[in-house]
Amino acid sequence: MAIATINPATGETLKTFEPLNDVEINAKLDLADRAFADYRQTSFSQRSHWLQKAADILEQEKAEFAKLMTLEMGKPLKAAIAEVEKCAAVCRYYAEHAPEFLADVAVKTDANHSFVRYQPLGAILAVMPWNFPFWQVFRFVAPALMAGNVGLLKHASNVPQCALAIEEIIRRAGFAEGVFQTLLIGAAKVADLMADDRIKAATLTGSEPAGASLAAAAGKQIKKTVLELGGSDPFIVLASADLETAVVTATTARMLNNGQSCIAAKRFIVAEAIADKFEKLLLDKFEALKVGDPMQPDTDLGPLATPGILQDLDQQVQTATKSGGKVLIGGHPLLDRPGNFYPPTIIIDIPPDTPIAKEEFFGPVALLFRVPDIDAAIKLANDSPFGLGASAWTTNDQERDRLVEEIQAGAVFINGMVKSDPRLPFGGIKRSGYGRELSIQGIHEFVNVKTVWIK
Ligand code: NAP
Repeated sequence: MAIATINPATGETLKTFEPLNDVEINAKLDLADRAFADYRQTSFSQRSHWLQKAADILEQEKAEFAKLMTLEMGKPLKAAIAEVEKCAAVCRYYAEHAPEFLADVAVKTDANHSFVRYQPLGAILAVMPWNFPFWQVFRFVAPALMAGNVGLLKHASNVPQCALAIEEIIRRAGFAEGVFQTLLIGAAKVADLMADDRIKAATLTGSEPAGASLAAAAGKQIKKTVLELGGSDPFIVLASADLETAVVTATTARMLNNGQSCIAAKRFIVAEAIADKFEKLLLDKFEALKVGDPMQPDTDLGPLATPGILQDLDQQVQTATKSGGKVLIGGHPLLDRPGNFYPPTIIIDIPPDTPIAKEEFFGPVALLFRVPDIDAAIKLANDSPFGLGASAWTTNDQERDRLVEEIQAGAVFINGMVKSDPRLPFGGIKRSGYGRELSIQGIHEFVNVKTVWIK
């Protein structure tokens, strides 16, 4: 894929970039290696100070950064502004809490003194997706840099200006040269990077094939990885649920980021007793969404990020209808305008055991399933290769306890939308990946957990 800014709302190529050559990549790896030797000696208070400064820059210039994201990948501008604010928040969170998360932990043993010490590993490679071009990077950067690691970013090829802007923010915040660098390279270079001794570990957020390929390259070198991959999150609505709130949230949860979020609600599993009503209310909400120019403040749904994503989604919807699904609204790309627009779409009656029902739909398409009871709801929710998040709606305490216990996912949200929060761990099970980001768990992924025993 060419490294370029192509406006998804118009199809216009705005800027192209030459990928780094091998000599340039080598120089950046050397710089990262040298930077780590000094950076690891810096104190928590110095790192916190720089990270707070990065948060200041993000807050002060959020309008500009948000516009860049919308220009490169098409998310509605209001969502892009909220994303920049969230990046500032994660910087402040780790600036404040990393010292306590990484403090020595005393453990009583047969030694006079034994404890656990957390130490940085070195240069960590972050391979990141375009869908949250700032948030995905900052939720890696904030804990990684607070832990004393240095970062190298291989961002998605369609958001190069975001990638460069983030490098510049970190530099302006006061971090030394080489502590965080963007590598403008294609995906084919990633395996070679994993084989380089100067890179100690890697994190990847993206698709399953990308995750599998990175993990295979890392496995050959015995290097640790964290993988945040796809999801097909269930959104379960049981008969006792507050239906109005559930439907409003269902719409937000499906349309978030133009439908291109790993934790978007994708499979709506609704109790038969309330299914007619839910379906009607959801249809009303989808009909009311404003599709259009993502730069306009009243736009609810912008374009998909690339023509390839539009084609893939179209193909999936066609397969779903061939497999027995019925389209209630939408169902075809909006070809009467330039850009990669796809309308809000609801598909009902897909047989749950067809392969297409188990795929991730990365766009504004809701699959609606009806179930007789909670047993069937949990069974269907778990009948997925993925296990990222799940949202479930009930006012019954026993049902709530069963959902919390029995849903197979990295996160269960009861009566709320699945979301990431710096204070809570984020990550999946099954084919959604492994490892955790955010919270104390996230900062412990890329450290040497050193056992110290002294007699
Ligand atoms: P993608 O194609 O996998 O791209 C993600 C990143 O991986 C990009 O930087 C890409 O570079 C790189 N990449 C692609 N193939 C690679 C390979 N074989 N080896 C190494 N790197 C490779 O994913 P996407 O389509 O942009 O993103 C959508 C997917 O990400 C969805 O499945 C979504 O659910 C998932 N996602 C997960 C989370 C989470 O936290 N679990 C969050 C957001 C998104 P190029 O751009 O140069 O190809």
